[in-house]
Amino acid sequence: MKIIRTVKDLRRKVSLARKSGKKIGLVPTMGALHNGHGALVRQSVRAGNFTVVSIFVNPLQFGPGEDLDRYPRRLPMDAQLVAEAGGDVVFAPSVEEMYPFGTSNTLVVNEALENLYCGSYRPGHFRGVLTVVAKLFQQCQPDRVYFGQKDYQQLFLIRRMVQDLDMPIKVVGVPTVREKDGLAMSSRNEYLSTKDRQGALAIWRTLQSLKASYANGERKIDKMRKMATFHIQEVGGKLQYIEFADKFTLEPREGRLDGAVVVLLAAFFGKTRLIDNCEL
Ligand code: AMP
Repeated sequence: MKIIRTVKDLRRKVSLARKSGKKIGLVPTMGALHNGHGALVRQSVRAGNFTVVSIFVNPLQFGPGEDLDRYPRRLPMDAQLVAEAGGDVVFAPSVEEMYPFGTSNTLVVNEALENLYCGSYRPGHFRGVLTVVAKLFQQCQPDRVYFGQKDYQQLFLIRRMVQDLDMPIKVVGVPTVREKDGLAMSSRNEYLSTKDRQGALAIWRTLQSLKASYANGERKIDKMRKMATFHIQEVGGKLQYIEFADKFTLEPREGRLDGAVVVLLAAFFGKTRLIDNCEL
């Protein structure tokens, strides 16, 4: 397993792998890797890809006052996880390597969907994500890319970008990996105090009870919102949003639920913002 720092070295390595007949798999991450990332890497390795894991905390997708500076960075441990999962290369460029002009004036924007859900609370976030992911695709030229369903809106937007811009890439969505007690694994979980870690379980409880009440015939969004707010507040959390979206278009649903729907939510426990989702 090799750590590569420059686009030039990445291209050289990938082109050698391709010449030897391998498909290229790319797993974009921001590092502080956990078993959720591990699942993405393993899925790429199992598919027989030469697997590149990028690790880059992308300033372009963080807003003012967000956790860019304190986002955990620990390349040696991350490299070990990638090696154990069978990955071939860690691509860990510096900010200067990624943005030699300081930033990117050219952006990839989904105007219809970037301001919904997480995007409405994190202005500019999704254009930052799509731009850096498009750059990574250009740098690595992968055949297949692996993203987690945990970041549902992100996965949806990346699929759309690939379709809209005719990128010859297969996007693979990987189910959310959870802790034993149901909390979705996230690099941000390590910000949580013991008390908030316990409280954050309310997210899982909320999703479970929404599923149960949907199975029992509940279709009123109002009622479901109230139930979610109750579960989160009960343990001292703060629900930032809970929305119900069409699974195929990601358009928001109001009033009554019908068809294939995904529940998307974000909640604060202490200062830590966590997101999760489930399909109904
Ligand atoms: P991040 O490092 O948080 O930007 O995440 C990198 C990739 O890992 C994204 O595609 C995430 O959706 C995915 N990911 C993060 N947490 C999980 C998880 N618990 N299960 C599955 N995929 C995840």
